[in-house]
Amino acid sequence: MLFSKVASIVTRRTCIRSFSSNATASNGYNFELSDTQKEMQDLARKFTKEEIIPNAAKYDKSGEYPWDILKKAWSLGLMNNHIPQDIGGLECSVFDGCLVGEELAYGCTGIATAIGGTNLGQTPVIVAGNKEQQKKYLGRLVEEPIVAAYCVTEPGAGSDVASIKTKAEKKGKEWILNGTKMWITNGGVANWYFVLARTNPDPNAPASKAFTGFIVERAFEGVTPGRKEINMGQRASDTRMVTFEDVRVPEENVLIGEGAGFKIAMGTFDKTRPPVACNAVGLAQRALDEATKYSLERKTFGKLISDHQAVAFKLADMAIGVHTARLAWMHASWSSDAGKPCSQTASAAKCYASDVANKCASDAVQIFGGAGFNSEYPVEKLMRDAKIFQIYEGTSEIQKLVISRTLLNEAKQKNN
Ligand SMILES: Cc1cc2nc3c(=O)[nH]c(=O)nc-3n(C[C@H](O)[C@H](O)[C@H](O)COP(=O)(O)OP(=O)(O)OC[C@H]3O[C@@H](n4cnc5c(N)ncnc54)[C@H](O)[C@@H]3O)c2cc1C
Repeated sequence: MLFSKVASIVTRRTCIRSFSSNATASNGYNFELSDTQKEMQDLARKFTKEEIIPNAAKYDKSGEYPWDILKKAWSLGLMNNHIPQDIGGLECSVFDGCLVGEELAYGCTGIATAIGGTNLGQTPVIVAGNKEQQKKYLGRLVEEPIVAAYCVTEPGAGSDVASIKTKAEKKGKEWILNGTKMWITNGGVANWYFVLARTNPDPNAPASKAFTGFIVERAFEGVTPGRKEINMGQRASDTRMVTFEDVRVPEENVLIGEGAGFKIAMGTFDKTRPPVACNAVGLAQRALDEATKYSLERKTFGKLISDHQAVAFKLADMAIGVHTARLAWMHASWSSDAGKPCSQTASAAKCYASDVANKCASDAVQIFGGAGFNSEYPVEKLMRDAKIFQIYEGTSEIQKLVISRTLLNEAKQKNN
């Protein structure tokens, strides 16, 4: 097994040394990965082949959280790898995290979401946490293979984040948190949560000042995760309601300060939407590979189905989608790492790659014919798993809102 071999020679510490020298962009256009990046990609690819692909169907059927796979990924530096080096982490760039993410997603996007979803919870603390908060909460994720979660969506508000009802009131040196969050990835398994709550009761207060971001420990009294939701796909991932009832949160767990939460919660997406896009590309590549292989095995009318142009052109369209969606996540993550304004490119990559994943999965099912509709073959799972890319971390419609708002504002400024 790859893992036992690699684990014996590659300790987590040596992973840290080799991966943390993340060479990113050079000046001008450059589509070549550095040797370190190739090494990381190769490690993730082998891990996927030996640890994820053989177990994907099992976790899809049982819906069990894949802790054994997470622990191995963590020990190899393939999980919780964006944490700053001064906290003991790898401080991988968004780009390098996506290189790994695409490989893991090729094996199973449910397991990849279980491994990568923790980044969504951690990123607010990476971008907005002070040193004490980072040492305490990110430090835990370096010490142990545990996960965090991001709690923003509620039963009554998803796209319209400013409508959330969870509230926190200051009492002395603590905040008292009350409310219910919904569809929380890692909701039942996280050690701690990023929670967005309204702290200004004035309904006319602007969103940029009305909400505060808190770090809330699972162990705090009054925190109750609900039952695991049974979803259409990505069933290895853990999705739950989480209820907060009179939870006492110390004031030192406020990120930046009162009123800064909305900006932190939304700014997080610049770093986490490219990773969603890379996972979608991993799935699309898998659909293409499975469909290609099948088309070279299955015969109709006396010839391989790949010899029918209608099938071959479907494969070509899938390849065009995979290639261009990959370039989209690469550009978006590069822009994020370079500190450029990237909300538009991150949304474009997420929206586009999600559509490509859905199209490729559906085309793969079509190429498999009847076998494509059956769970003994690999592509029906891909089609179920693909749908969520168009929904979580902002629906495709919300990505188009972000993109159109940005381009229209720019056009208006030019006209003035
Ligand atoms: C498996 C899963 C995991 C998730 N993980 C997390 C997580 O970890 N943390 C978290 O906080 N949330 C999470 N979510 C929540 C997810 O981000 C929301 O479901 C998503 O943002 C949509 O919100 P909603 O479900 O309330 O749909 P709604 O906001 O009610 O939208 C319903 C429909 O209306 C459309 N719509 C809404 N407003 C507009 C508009 N202005 N213009 C055009 N169309 C519009 C939407 O695009 C959608 O098609 C997860 C969801 C799922 C299913």
